[in-house]
This record gives sequence, structure tokens and C-alpha cells, in this order.
Amino acid sequence: MLDIKKIRGDFPILRTEVNAKPLIYVDNAATTQKPQQVIDTILDLYTNTYSNVHRGVHQLSQKATTLYEGARETVRKFINAGSVKEIVFVRGTTEGVNLVASSYLEPLLKAGDEILISEMEHHSNIIPWQMLVERKGAKLVIIPMMEDGNLDLSGLGKLLNNRVKLLAITHMSNSLGTINDVSTIIDQAHARSIPVLLDGAQSVAHFPVDVQALDCDFFVFSGHKIYGPTGIGILYAKEKFLNSMVPYQSGGNMILNVSFEKTEFNEIPYKFEAGTPNIAGSIGLAAALDYISSLGISNIDHYERELLLYATEQFEKIEGLRIIGTAPNKGCIISFVLEGIHPHDIGTIMDMEGVAVRTGHHCTQPVMDYFNIPATTRVSLSFYNTKTEIDGIVRAIQKVKEFMG
Ligand code: PMP
Repeated sequence: MLDIKKIRGDFPILRTEVNAKPLIYVDNAATTQKPQQVIDTILDLYTNTYSNVHRGVHQLSQKATTLYEGARETVRKFINAGSVKEIVFVRGTTEGVNLVASSYLEPLLKAGDEILISEMEHHSNIIPWQMLVERKGAKLVIIPMMEDGNLDLSGLGKLLNNRVKLLAITHMSNSLGTINDVSTIIDQAHARSIPVLLDGAQSVAHFPVDVQALDCDFFVFSGHKIYGPTGIGILYAKEKFLNSMVPYQSGGNMILNVSFEKTEFNEIPYKFEAGTPNIAGSIGLAAALDYISSLGISNIDHYERELLLYATEQFEKIEGLRIIGTAPNKGCIISFVLEGIHPHDIGTIMDMEGVAVRTGHHCTQPVMDYFNIPATTRVSLSFYNTKTEIDGIVRAIQKVKEFMG
């Protein structure tokens, strides 16, 4: 369904050689490469239509504003939000979580309240909550994980008590690949009137996300993990929450009227976009989403699942290799350990073969603690990867084993 050869042609960096070998880029969970369409959009903006947005009456400002607000509509459509008012441009997933912690939860949270997260969260969906509970004398409660990398939801009913003020959970784990059953989790939380934040950093680039169908209250993701620029991300929040929230940062753009006595804040979403925004980032992100839509996110999902299946089968044949994260419903991430060889050495030797993998704790130290390992080597795939590349990765792993004896 996808013409992978043509798609690979869209990504100039994939023509790079590393150590005189063709680059095999499988560090997509850390960040994705950019198609020419995104690069051209940004180049064209700075060449032909760049100006500051919102406040100018001159033509360039109006053109840039149209593109910037058009980008908001592209994002709305991509995740099927009900209104552009619910789309806030932020710096990335991390800033989205921090914004919800500061502007939504902080004013509500009292001593003795609880915030529920899971054992497989990225640090950016742990620390903002940890700092908040410390400030408020509240408590962080953890949904436990099981050996296959699924969450143990058997006790969720009990955990969702009336002290819980928010449940914040990852849609798809960046270190295990697990896709959580968020619909069930959201239903159960909503039955107790507990709002839910989904960390969509890993999910949104790989399978269709419909925030209205999911009925999540907050959804955050980063542009750079969905083939767009760095420094831009999205906070989706239901209108009723955004309206009730206090501003995150203050300054220009987020106001209607200012005097030394009093300031009247702008309407949503502008109330949360203080200062000159990341204009090129937003427009570049929209170009990336248009690119994904032109391929079809369901086609991407289908192809990547096939790729994951093939990679898993090949990896399982390698003696001494253990896959960390074997949940039945997984996105295209394979974390593994090789008996007796440190992941740092694995990554270094694989790099000599042109293979770009990530090694470390992947900002999920509690996951490493659970499995009692310091780190893993992570192969994270994209629709521009191929079965031939997976064969190359397997050969590189064999080289690691030979080299390390
Ligand atoms: N959550 C998850 C699941 C992630 O994979 C990442 C990035 N590795 C983040 C949050 C943080 O994203 P960013 O650094 O773009 O803010």
C-alpha cells in the first residue's frame, strides 16, 4: 500500500553514509527524520512569507498569520479535536505536561490528594507531577507493570478513589513499545469523574488518534517525533478545562487589555501562548501532518506492524538476545539486552556498521529498575525502514557478538 522506495526518496538524510556504510536509522522514537516537503515548507516560509503573526496589518503578517492559524486547523483535523480553540502550540510533550501541571492541577490540588501515573512513564510524565505533589503535600500513586510490559490493571478500580485528581498515562511506551488500553482506562477514570491526560509522544506518529473518540481530557505530543521540526508540540485540552485554567506564562499575545492596575487575558487558546510563538515550527509541523495524511496513517500503521512482526521474528532467532517488552499490542519498538554485553558497547559497534540505535534508560529509569537492568538497546522503526534494513541490523548484532567474544 505504501511505495517505500518513493517515500525514502522524500527523506534526504536517508542517503547519508555512516562509516562508509549506508545509514540505517532506527532511532525514530528519539526523533524522526524530516521529509523534503517539511524542509521546503520552512525554507519557503523564511524565503517568501515570513513575518510575525497576529498583530500586523501588513500583507506579510497577514499571510504568516493565515499559515500559522491554518497549521492549528491542520492539527485539529489530524487528531479530530472538536475545535481549534482546543489546540495550544507548546514546545513539545514535556512543556504540554508541565503546562497542565501548573495551569490545571496546581490550583486544584490539596494536601492528601493523589495523582495517578503508571510505572512505564517517560520522565517527562513523572517529574512534573512529582514536583507538584511535593509542593502540595499530595501523593503520586503508580499503576504497576507486569513482566511482559503490560500494565497490571486488575487493581485500577481501587486506585481510582476520590482522592485522585488526575490520571496521566502514556498512550504508547517509548522504551517497551506497549500500547496501553487507554479506552478502558479512560472509561474507568471518567466513571469516577477523574480527568485523564494521555502522553501521545509515541502514539500519534504511528496509528490513528481521535481525541474525541478516546474522550481523553488532555493529549500532548511533540512535532519532532512526527516528522516535523523540533521546538514545537501540541497540547490538546477540552475547551471546558482550558477555559477554567490559569495562564502558564504571561506577556504579549496572551492578553486583551493591559493597564498597570489590571490585565484582561486573551481567549483560549491564545491565553496559553505568551510571546512570539514558534511560527516556522507550527507551519513545519502542519506540513509534516499533511505529509503523513497523504500517506495515510492507517497505511503507516499497517506497514509498521508488518515490519515489527518481521523484526521480532528475526531478533528472537539471535542467541543470547532478550527482548524487553513483549506485550501483545505493541508499536514498532524493540528494546533488547544481549547477555554479557553492555548496551553502550552494542550501540558503538552497531554505529560502526552504520546502524543508528539508542542505548540507555530512554528516560524511563523506573522501567529499567523493574527489569533490574541498567539500560537496553532500542530499535525504533518508522515507515521509511525496510525488511532489508532489519536484516542489516541483525547482521550488525551478530558482529557485536563476534567482536565482544
Ligand atoms: N513521552 C514519551 C513517551 C516520549 O517518548 C518522549 C520523548 N522521548 C517524551 C514524553 C518527551 O518528549 P519531548 O522531549 O519531545 O518533550
